[in-house]
Amino acid sequence: MKTVYNFIAIFIGKMMLKGAVVGMATYYTSLVLQTFGGNVFLWSWMISLLTTIILVPLYIEIIIPLLDEYTQLTSGSLKQKLERLANEVNFPLSSIYISLGNHADADHVAYFTGMFSSKVIVISLTLILSMTEEEIVAIVAHEMGHWKLRHAWYYLISRAFYNLFLCVLLMNYYDSLKLYNAFNIEVNNTPPHPVLSFILIADYMLPPFDRILSICSNYITRLCEYEADQFAKQLGQEIPLRTALIKIYTHKLIFPVNDELYSICYVTHPSILERVRAIQR
Ligand SMILES: [Zn+2]
Repeated sequence: MKTVYNFIAIFIGKMMLKGAVVGMATYYTSLVLQTFGGNVFLWSWMISLLTTIILVPLYIEIIIPLLDEYTQLTSGSLKQKLERLANEVNFPLSSIYISLGNHADADHVAYFTGMFSSKVIVISLTLILSMTEEEIVAIVAHEMGHWKLRHAWYYLISRAFYNLFLCVLLMNYYDSLKLYNAFNIEVNNTPPHPVLSFILIADYMLPPFDRILSICSNYITRLCEYEADQFAKQLGQEIPLRTALIKIYTHKLIFPVNDELYSICYVTHPSILERVRAIQR
């Protein structure tokens, strides 16, 4: 019985919190729109872009290290191999760390962090325990491919383009009578509250555009994965990369076969079969 009371109390609490947040957001949105007009969407786009550029590196630099425990790789053949690889591609490597994996994101990953001419490679302990040294080097070579080919900029630009499109849509239609006419809603020449426009735009106008933009963004992500695999292949990592990828996809229980059309529409990363075939080509 206590569980039922707890459930009802939590449910009511959540509803009240949600109501308070939505109510405040609605009030302040209309206040801001009344004061600054539709241009506020463009400003918020610019602020969100600047915030992403500043916050993402800060998240990698400050927040991720707080979530995990690390130990530095100070000697051994793996260190030598990774240093040789970094030299080969002019990667400004300062040190290598092993993350002991206390959070879910640290499972079977390798990534780099650090600004400008001093970068740190971080490899998860799960990767160290399940892969050979050659396979770890191949995975790091793939990550260096993302760095060398500046893929972070592709992701940033495609995200910025998507958000800009959303802002332009809101800017043009949040107080437009055309929107209400299109849905046969009578508004007596005065558009209703902008929040109603947001609901119409988000629920009915955005989804078709969203699907098209998602397909474009999936295409870019998939292309970047293929390019990073080819980069590792050109460094002589073809065979260990293939076996490492098979181990990662197997460990994460990612289904190896995807319908081609479904992949194009919904899947950000190519399937293991697509990647292995592309590496072998
Ligand atoms: Zn990748």
